Amino acid sequence: MTTSKEIPVSFEFFPTKTEAGHEKLIAAAHVLADQQPEFFSVTYGAGGSTRDRTINTVLQLDQQVKVPTAPHLSCVGDSKADLRQLLTEYREAGIRRIVALRGDLPSGMGRASGELRYANELVEFIREETGDHFIIEVAAYPEAHPQARNFEADLENFVRKAKAGADSAITQYFFNADCYFHFVDRVRKAGVDLPIVPGIMPITNYTSLSRFSDACGAEIPRWIRKQLESYGDDSASIAAFGTEVISDMCQRLLDGGAPSLHFYTLNQAQPSLAILDNL
Ligand SMILES: Cc1cc2nc3c(=O)[nH]c(=O)nc-3n(C[C@H](O)[C@H](O)[C@H](O)COP(=O)(O)OP(=O)(O)OC[C@H]3O[C@@H](n4cnc5c(N)ncnc54)[C@H](O)[C@@H]3O)c2cc1C
Repeated sequence: MTTSKEIPVSFEFFPTKTEAGHEKLIAAAHVLADQQPEFFSVTYGAGGSTRDRTINTVLQLDQQVKVPTAPHLSCVGDSKADLRQLLTEYREAGIRRIVALRGDLPSGMGRASGELRYANELVEFIREETGDHFIIEVAAYPEAHPQARNFEADLENFVRKAKAGADSAITQYFFNADCYFHFVDRVRKAGVDLPIVPGIMPITNYTSLSRFSDACGAEIPRWIRKQLESYGDDSASIAAFGTEVISDMCQRLLDGGAPSLHFYTLNQAQPSLAILDNL
């Protein structure tokens, strides 16, 4: 049997507002550190809304939990001076990887005021400011970004981000392995060979998953939706079915050449571990 430690993985967290939430995050990170992940990553609220919490969480995971940790950094709503300061801070703290995004301003935060409009411009900026210091990850959308004019335009954008200097990509989550294989195939045909790591969302709560998936453009196939709906509030059945469906998809992705798996942990260890145990 393959142990999960033989499958390259990374785990994503979001910085919490409360001390209790933060303690849970750190406890989950200690458990997931046993999987010897390539890295952890920590999200960033566009416009700097989580700036200090993101920095503190990144430094704690990197220095105390001792897993190399990548901050997410988004350009919408942040000035070049803000971004430069963050890059300097991370560089001085020994951080070597960054997830570079455009971001979405939370509703109510007003109009985007950043000097950089798209993620490819942020990648260029990071390269100009810091050379090759950081490994730069960018986002990829096998089902197309929800605001993209169409699939081809979004693919062109992805190629622009690669050419701007990205080293690797993490996808938006999806529930259909074929869209990943199709996307990778199209990227390769466009002459871009950077690793494209599937982003994996464990299924634990149907209501929030459904709301979030609508917003970010991840399609939940009808057969999965219908099955999850039939469980109502039975969270144990939702988790058991979700683990089975996502494990099967991960196995297909790995068998089909996915270089590693990036888990959207939502700050919980168990759902990702249950999937890894099945692989
Ligand atoms: C792995 C991952 C991690 C994420 N982490 C965070 C996070 O920490 N914080 C956060 O706020 N959000 C995060 N997001 C969400 C992300 O910020 C949103 O999906 C955002 O809407 C797009 O960001 P991007 O970097 O993909 O943008 P971009 O690559 O800039 O693309 C955004 C849209 O603009 C279009 N576009 C790009 N260039 C042009 C152009 N020149 N002209 C016209 N259209 C163009 C693209 O096709 C796309 O529709 C994450 C997403 C992923 C997949």
